[in-house]
Amino acid sequence: MPHITILGGGPAGLGVAFYAHRAGIPFVLGEASETLGGMCRTLECGAHRYDTGAHRFHDRDPEITRDVAALLGDELVRVDAPSAIWERGRFIDFPPTPLNAVFAYGPREAGRILADLARSTLRRHPPAFSFEDLAVRRFGRTLARRILLNYSEKLWGLPTDRLSPDVATRRLRGMTLRSLFYELLVPGRKAEHIDGSFLYPRGGYGRIVEALAAALPRESVRTGFEVAALEHTGDEVRRVRGATGETLEVRDRVISTLPLPVLARLLGDAVPDAARAAASRLRFRDVRLLFVRLRVDRLSSKASIYVPDPAFCVSRIYEPKNRSIAMGPAHETALVAEAPCFRGDAVARLSPADFAQRVLRELAALRLVHPRLVVEWRAHTIPNAYPVYTRDYANDVAAVREALSRFSNLEALGRAGAFVYSHLHDQLRFGRDAVRALTESSRAQTA
Ligand SMILES: Cc1cc2nc3c(=O)[nH]c(=O)nc-3n(C[C@H](O)[C@H](O)[C@H](O)COP(=O)(O)OP(=O)(O)OC[C@H]3O[C@@H](n4cnc5c(N)ncnc54)[C@H](O)[C@@H]3O)c2cc1C
Repeated sequence: MPHITILGGGPAGLGVAFYAHRAGIPFVLGEASETLGGMCRTLECGAHRYDTGAHRFHDRDPEITRDVAALLGDELVRVDAPSAIWERGRFIDFPPTPLNAVFAYGPREAGRILADLARSTLRRHPPAFSFEDLAVRRFGRTLARRILLNYSEKLWGLPTDRLSPDVATRRLRGMTLRSLFYELLVPGRKAEHIDGSFLYPRGGYGRIVEALAAALPRESVRTGFEVAALEHTGDEVRRVRGATGETLEVRDRVISTLPLPVLARLLGDAVPDAARAAASRLRFRDVRLLFVRLRVDRLSSKASIYVPDPAFCVSRIYEPKNRSIAMGPAHETALVAEAPCFRGDAVARLSPADFAQRVLRELAALRLVHPRLVVEWRAHTIPNAYPVYTRDYANDVAAVREALSRFSNLEALGRAGAFVYSHLHDQLRFGRDAVRALTESSRAQTA
C-alpha cells in the first residue's frame, strides 16, 4: 500500500487520515496548530460550549452520514429549529414563505414580490452571468434583494453582480419558486430547503472531528507542525519542511488541504509566474466571532438568525443551546455573532475589545440583547472561512490546478485547499474518494 503525507488537520485532512487508516494505508499528518479540527471546532467558556461558526450536519451522502453516526453513536441527534431573518425588529422565516412575506413586509411590498416573481417565472432567460443575475431571475428583484443579495454582499464582501453564479449551487440549493409556493399551498409543511431539521452532535459540532481524530493512531499525527516549504525532485514532491526545521520525507503521495494559494507559494519557483499570479488573485473572507455569555436562560428558539442589513457588521447570530441543550448551563444562555471581513479591512483591524463593543452595540440596536444581560465575551477569528467566488475565480483555480498537475504525487483537497465552498460531509467524501482511488490504482498495479 502507498504511504500518504497529509498536510493540514482540519476535517479534510482528518477525513483522508480516517479513510486511509480504515483501508490499512499508512499516513502521517502535519498540522500547524496544537489543536486538530481547523475551522470546525467546539470551544469552551466556563460551562458553555460553542462552535467556530454556526455549523449543522448536512446528511446528503448516506455513506458519510452512516460513518459519522457510527463514530458518534447516540450523541448525534436530530434538531428541529428553524432559522430566521431579523429585520425591522422582528423575525421573518428564512427563507420567507409568500404568506410570511405578506405579514412581514406589508401587503404592498408582498404584492411587488409576487408581481416580480410572476414576471421572472414567465420570462425565458439566457444563462446567468452573475449571482445577482441568477437570484433575480429565480426570485424576482424585490425578494432577491431582501433575502439574498444584501446578505450575500455582506458575506462575500463584494457587490453581487461581481460574484459568480456558482455561489448559488450551495446557498440556493433546493430553494426554488416551486418550493416557496409549496409552502404557501400546503399549510404547516416546510419544503426540503428549509434547514429547520438537521443532525447535530449533543456536545457540539467539534465532536465530529474529535471522534475522527480519536480513531487515528496517535503516532501518525503531528500537531504544531507548520509546513514552510515543499521540496521536489523533477515532478515529484519529495520532502515537507516544517517552520522549525523538522522535515517529513515523502514516501509516496502528498495530499494537501492547506489553502490553495499557500500551497502554490510553498512550491516556490516550481509554479510558473502566471499560476502564482492567479493564486494571488484568489481571495478568502475571514470571519470574526464574538461569543457572548448571557444571564438569561434563553433568548430565542432559532437555529440561526440572519442580519442582512448592511448597517450592521454582524451577519449571522446563533444560540448554541438551540442546537443542543448540553451547550450551556441551566440558568444562562449565550449568543455567537459572526462578522465577515477581509484581512486588513475596518472590521479586521478592530482590537478584540473594540470588536466586542461594536458587536454588543449592534446586538442592543437589533433589540436582541440588553447590555445588562452580558456576563462576559470572547473574540476569535476564523481565517480563510469562505472562498470568494468572483466571476473570474474558476479560471484562476483552473490555472493553479493546471500548474500543480505536473506533480504526479500531489493532490489538493478541502474547502480552502481546493477553493471549493464545501462542508464537513464534503470534506469526508473528498477524503473517502481520494483513498478509494489510491487503493484501486494500487490494486491495479499489483495485478
Ligand atoms: C462560519 C462557518 C459556518 C460553517 N457552517 C457549516 C455547516 O453548517 N456545516 C458544515 O458541514 N460545514 C460548515 N462550515 C464549513 C466547514 O467548517 C468546512 O467545510 C471545514 O472545516 C473545512 O475543512 P478543511 O479541512 O478543508 O479546512 P480547515 O478546517 O480550514 O483546515 C485546514 C487546516 O490546515 C491547517 N494549516 C493551514 N496552513 C498550514 C500550514 N502551513 N502547515 C500546517 N497546517 C496548516 C490549519 O491550521 C487547519 O487546521 C462552516 C464554516 C464556517 C467558517
